Amino acid sequence: MAFLAGKRALIVGVATDRSIAWGIAQAMHREGAELAFSYANDRLKERVEPLAASVGSRVTMPLDVTSDEQIDAAFERIEREWGHLDAVVHAVAYAPREALTGGFLENTSRDASRIAHDVSSYSLTALARGSRPLMQGRAGAILTLTYLGAVRSIPNYNVMGLAKASLEANVRFLAADLGPLGIRVNGISAGPVKTLAAAGITGFRRMLNRVAEVAPLRRNVTLEDVGNAAAFLCSDLAAGITGEILYVDSGFSTVGMSFPAEAED
Ligand code: NAP
Repeated sequence: MAFLAGKRALIVGVATDRSIAWGIAQAMHREGAELAFSYANDRLKERVEPLAASVGSRVTMPLDVTSDEQIDAAFERIEREWGHLDAVVHAVAYAPREALTGGFLENTSRDASRIAHDVSSYSLTALARGSRPLMQGRAGAILTLTYLGAVRSIPNYNVMGLAKASLEANVRFLAADLGPLGIRVNGISAGPVKTLAAAGITGFRRMLNRVAEVAPLRRNVTLEDVGNAAAFLCSDLAAGITGEILYVDSGFSTVGMSFPAEAED
């Protein structure tokens, strides 16, 4: 049987059919979940609505995660439509483009830092607060997307690494708060995937090449790889897992040293 049958999930962060959130939505739909989608602005509404319709979803809503009013309205809409919620996927991040290039010290301003943390980390706290009453008495699951830059310095990732470190701490604090209610909170640390957000990071192609060269699996991860792991973490198959960051990165983060074939002597 499909392992998400009977579950209802809100997917936050679809921008295109290359978005990680869309890979997750497809896997969750395949496993029987009923889905609702948010879009960050009117421009994305036109892209998200047809994608939602293609997986049988008619519940779509505006949600800029920097707006408390829009967050409240989104959860009120879910309550009207479904009365409850089983899962929330948070796949949202943003930092001003000029902060995602060059030296960390030179390019990390107070403003960029505030914006990156607000959109990319605090938003998880806000969505968890909105979800809690709708997940009451259910085996709820909250899932976010993070990156290795939370725990290692990565060229050009800069302030986003700080925001992701905050996001990963957020996962652990939320897991402690919500665990007694039966709600689990986890993150997936995905390897690089070519998306709109990724295009904003200087040298992104070099990151893809590096992973393909040295990761144990010698390839980059796909939307399907991340989607399948996300569907599992949102399901009752993962009932004993919370506060965890699961690496879906072809094993890249586990390698201490690797010699590409052409470098052999
Ligand atoms: P994406 O397709 O560009 O998705 C990012 C989404 O965040 C977009 O829908 C974007 O909308 C949305 N967003 C930005 N600001 C927002 C706001 N204020 N309110 C609501 N939504 C907002 O890129 P993605 O790579 O799939 O990113 C999804 C998540 O995966 C992010 O957390 C990212 O850091 C993480 N991740 C990505 C990679 C990678 O290599 N791609 C690796 C590890 C982790 P707009 O387009 O309007 O800004």
